Amino acid sequence: MPAAWRHVSEHCWLVPGGVNAVVLEHRGRAVLIDSGPDRDSGKRLLRGIRERSWKLEAILTSHAHADHFGGHAALLRQLDVPVLAPPVEAELMRAPLLEPSYLFHGAAPLAELTSRWFQAEASRVDQVIAAGPLTLIDLPLELLAVDGHAHRQLALRVDDVLVAADAVFAATVAARHPLLFAHDVRAQADAAALVGNDGARLAIPGHGEPDTPAALAQATLAAIDRGHAAIRAALEAHEGAGATTTQVLRHVAQALGASTDDLARWHLLHTTVSAYLSAARARGTCQPRIVDGELRWFAASPLAP
Ligand SMILES: [Zn+2]
Repeated sequence: MPAAWRHVSEHCWLVPGGVNAVVLEHRGRAVLIDSGPDRDSGKRLLRGIRERSWKLEAILTSHAHADHFGGHAALLRQLDVPVLAPPVEAELMRAPLLEPSYLFHGAAPLAELTSRWFQAEASRVDQVIAAGPLTLIDLPLELLAVDGHAHRQLALRVDDVLVAADAVFAATVAARHPLLFAHDVRAQADAAALVGNDGARLAIPGHGEPDTPAALAQATLAAIDRGHAAIRAALEAHEGAGATTTQVLRHVAQALGASTDDLARWHLLHTTVSAYLSAARARGTCQPRIVDGELRWFAASPLAP
């Protein structure tokens, strides 16, 4: 049974779920932000909008992870409205095989990576949007660039609410997923800090309960710090011979209590561990080397400033 819609500010409704969706309403006109993972979530959101006798006029996508735009296609079969999305994400929505493919080193993905959580139905995108002011349904909005968790990602300010999507995670979610998925860890930390400094009264994360921007940012930044520390400990534990990416993954998963028990979770972790290693290499705290045909990571002292 889907949870009841919550009116969080004059123009903003939270539709809570495994993946939070948001509906903006102004004088009977509505904008949907994200559509959940599948056909059912998309149809349910449209039904909720129509039950309120509102007219859906646009769909905005925070980022192109399958669980955030998987409902678009079913919705667009019933209604012809423009779809807005950030750059890069727009391409991933048009060619959704790219998500499981990038999780599998760019190759044709394993079947386990093509479930609805990783590969949504394709959606058209009519307008590519970027950070800055945006007016929809005569409502002044502000978009913020919060890249890092995904390639490109946007948060949206409406009234005194920040729709932050996966730029930040509730502490309860970070406890269940101790290594938060990341494409670019440094950008992810910058994005969380940006959310934390936002003056909004309330921020809505993509998963979990809304909270103050500062509280959500703090939970996210603490999880990122734990990730960095676990990576460092993994590299130190393999000092000398270096660690393969898989060895780092196993060490980090054990240290943080992250589950590695299925192919899909393992690959999500692999991508995120790679993002941390890439960030560490860019900072000069580790070095990749090929040793006897194996990619090995070696701890290094930080580069002199
Ligand atoms: Zn996401």
